[in-house]
Amino acid sequence: MSYDPDNIFAKILRGEIPSFKVYEDEDTYCFMDIMPRTDGHCLVIPKTPCRNILDASPEQLSACMTTVNKVANACMRAFGADGITLQQFSEAAGGQEVFHLHFHILPRHEGVSTRPPGKMGDMDQIKAHGAAIAEAIENM
Ligand code: AMP
Repeated sequence: MSYDPDNIFAKILRGEIPSFKVYEDEDTYCFMDIMPRTDGHCLVIPKTPCRNILDASPEQLSACMTTVNKVANACMRAFGADGITLQQFSEAAGGQEVFHLHFHILPRHEGVSTRPPGKMGDMDQIKAHGAAIAEAIENM
């Protein structure tokens, strides 16, 4: 399976379609999922091409995990969360829909289930949640 440079996250990285940015560094970008399964659901991706966990380099994985660690801790503070669910799907059979490596970060609260997939969120609320995570990162 090869990398398709026209996948939607590659377009986000190139600024061809908008996203609610949470954080970025030299190697990674974090932005809000527009179909959030919990409040604060965001995605961490490498800036370099990579389809999924199967073709990821150690450098890409290391960079993503460093950002996941930072954003997950910010989510705990921003949402008063009790925990974090980290998800990654590889290939269609594994549940992957967008073929640029990404890690889902879902802030979780005791006893609260995730929402069903595929439902568009409220954009104003998603924007506000992204800003809250970004502010928590700045104050860390
Ligand atoms: P998956 O490939 O199954 O891990 O899921 C892809 C994720 O990307 C889903 O949670 C979608 O809600 C999310 N998604 C799809 N398009 C966009 C977009 N333009 N901006 C932000 N998130 C997106």
